[in-house]
Amino acid sequence: MYDLIIVGAGPAGLSLAARLAQSPLRIALIEKQNETALADPAYDGREIALTQASIERLEELGAWQYLRADEAAPLRRADVLNGNSPFVLGFANRRGKDALGALVPNSAIRRTLYQTAKAHGDCDLFAGESATFVKRDAETNYVRLSDGRILAGKLLVGADTRFSPLRQSQGIGAHMTDFGRTMLVCRVRHERPHDGVAIEWFDHNQTIAMLPLNDSQSSFVLTLPADAMQQLGALNDADFAAEIENRTQKRWGALALTSARFLYPLVAVYAQRFVAPRFALIGDAAVGMHPVTAHGFNFGLASAFLLGREIAEAARKGADIADPQRLARFDRLHRRATLPLFTATNAIAKLYSDERPLARLARSAGLRLMQATPGARAVVEASLRG
Ligand SMILES: Cc1cc2nc3c(=O)[nH]c(=O)nc-3n(C[C@H](O)[C@H](O)[C@H](O)COP(=O)(O)OP(=O)(O)OC[C@H]3O[C@@H](n4cnc5c(N)ncnc54)[C@H](O)[C@@H]3O)c2cc1C
Repeated sequence: MYDLIIVGAGPAGLSLAARLAQSPLRIALIEKQNETALADPAYDGREIALTQASIERLEELGAWQYLRADEAAPLRRADVLNGNSPFVLGFANRRGKDALGALVPNSAIRRTLYQTAKAHGDCDLFAGESATFVKRDAETNYVRLSDGRILAGKLLVGADTRFSPLRQSQGIGAHMTDFGRTMLVCRVRHERPHDGVAIEWFDHNQTIAMLPLNDSQSSFVLTLPADAMQQLGALNDADFAAEIENRTQKRWGALALTSARFLYPLVAVYAQRFVAPRFALIGDAAVGMHPVTAHGFNFGLASAFLLGREIAEAARKGADIADPQRLARFDRLHRRATLPLFTATNAIAKLYSDERPLARLARSAGLRLMQATPGARAVVEASLRG
């Protein structure tokens, strides 16, 4: 009998396992992918902008220490541009630290969290196994692995992607917004320096982001309607590089592709509840963000810490780790921490891809208003710090 069963060893599930590694709890961590893929995850094009708060959490877990020196690139400032307007809305860390955060490949985050969870030990990993919910009685959840084994645990946690089958198995609905757009990500090397500045450029009919990486490289992020993106897929690497030089108007000079290209359809998800009896959701299964404000994993890590704290405290006091009051507090606090930015992110993503004349006016006015309202900027900068 396990105390805790976590389904999904993505960044969120691994973070929770690592957060509780020092506790005396017996943990089962179930993951569809095999152990080789967990130990050495393939590069998936995602460069995760980590807030300072997330960096501190990863340091506290011991995961940050496993990063190789060239894997974290400092993010000094973020500038937001609108169409052809020369106006720039800039965000920086005004709280002493020199950087807003850091960019780290998602594959490196997964690898280092896996190393952390493994190093600490009292966690049984069931890799290469898909889990399905079977039933729950007063004290226990039962979960079936794809090889037929049944695991029993006091608390079940779903960290199984934004389309979480476990969430559905608990009768928990989710608000989903399909943006009808696809995000393409790849690494490029460029002629002109980026100076550690991320650019988010809401151009007309396309959104481009350039996220500063080490070694004169950036992560190129292009968002287009799904059908327009399909046409780009047919281009070979050289033609694609020429195409994106054009699309970036040579702001970064000549560009050369240095990685494969990866596509992500954009669907934002917010679970109606994050808890049920003896059950909780973390990571994207709870809050699946549109990537434009770069907060999905930052929120996922925060959810692992919030839930982990409730579980660890209950365990220390010899209380039930699935105490409904504790789960309700996790639900309340995580909702409070995420709902405003989730709502604002969806509104930004919709407004800044809307080309109708009134929307264009609102886009321009929105950035200037933000610039002129120190309180609003401070709120955004606080959220970027985490
Ligand atoms: C292009 C892009 C850019 C992004 N940029 C940022 C950024 O800058 N900053 C940021 O904070 N976030 C960013 N994100 C978001 C971030 O990548 C996600 O929030 C994060 O990866 C989600 O982690 P997770 O563990 O919740 O889910 P996932 O990564 O989806 O992992 C879930 C795991 O569960 C496993 N699984 C699913 N079902 C089962 C089952 N039944 N049994 C066993 N295992 C199962 C899956 O195999 C998977 O390994 C970005 C996302 C994208 C797409």
